[in-house]
Amino acid sequence: MTEVDLHVHTTASDGTMSPAEVVRYAKEKGLRAIAITDHDTIEGLHEGIGEGKKQGLEVIPGVELSVDFPKGTMHVLGYYIDPTCTGLLDELMVLQQARAERNLRMIEKLRGLGIEIELSELKETPEHGQIGRPHFAHTMVKKGYVQNIQDAFDRYLGKGGPAYVEKFRFSQEEAITIIHQAQGLAVLAHPFTLNRPDPADFGALIGELKEKGLDGMEVYNPEHSKGQKKFYRTLAQQHGLVATGGSDFHGLTKDAVDLGEGYGDTNYAYNVVEELKARREARLRGLS
Ligand code: AMP
Ligand code: FE
Ligand code: FE
Ligand code: ZN
Repeated sequence: MTEVDLHVHTTASDGTMSPAEVVRYAKEKGLRAIAITDHDTIEGLHEGIGEGKKQGLEVIPGVELSVDFPKGTMHVLGYYIDPTCTGLLDELMVLQQARAERNLRMIEKLRGLGIEIELSELKETPEHGQIGRPHFAHTMVKKGYVQNIQDAFDRYLGKGGPAYVEKFRFSQEEAITIIHQAQGLAVLAHPFTLNRPDPADFGALIGELKEKGLDGMEVYNPEHSKGQKKFYRTLAQQHGLVATGGSDFHGLTKDAVDLGEGYGDTNYAYNVVEELKARREARLRGLS
């Protein structure tokens, strides 16, 4: 039976369940531990960890940082980060500030295209998380500028679209350093999104990330094929990376992957948590 899920979102970012709800749901599903890994924020950790104590479920403090990576998507998970680390809090504030400025620039761009949207309207949409493109898309549908959400992305908001503004992201080194300074472990999330199909090219990239301090790789993810899992597992072994797994749970939306599920042939056992703890001890003692 699956015992742990190391990739879980809450309403603090773009999940549909509050941190307390996610923890209770994990308990119902019989899990022993989850990691709360919201995008670019640790605001859900306090509530999640508190509920975990009540429910007798281990809640690992985490975060998922978006990293600048041309032609692909790179997300780095931080596990066992100290949520009171001021360096971490400052860096997350930088992201929030950059996001706020980006939203204003997107409002300006849309205005230039004849689409009038106020910041206050973006705050009234049912979308979860920090204000971003989904909030714009919803507002554009509501005001009749586009047919639906997809239309908004296709015609205006998608990467390269006329209203698109690049998001500020940390570099690979920055993300790993921020996580390490907060006493956490840096783990590459859903490696398939790096979009590097050539195995040699991909392997070289993992080698570089290991040099930069990467501690682990999310080998088990519902989007990975059997072949990919095998390939990532071998690479993790070669580079001495902890092979982690998570469902990237965002709530029980239509067709969504359920908490603690989607690893296929692999049932994720608790010993990965022990491996992470041992790795963290070693890192804090300067041994790794
Ligand atoms: P942002 O962080 O503001 O760049 O918004 C990113 C979010 O927008 C993603 O998590 C998706 O939910 C949504 N999104 C991005 N690209 C598309 C797309 N082409 N079609 C539909 N939704 C998208
Ligand atoms: Fe997400
Ligand atoms: Fe991600
Ligand atoms: Zn995620």
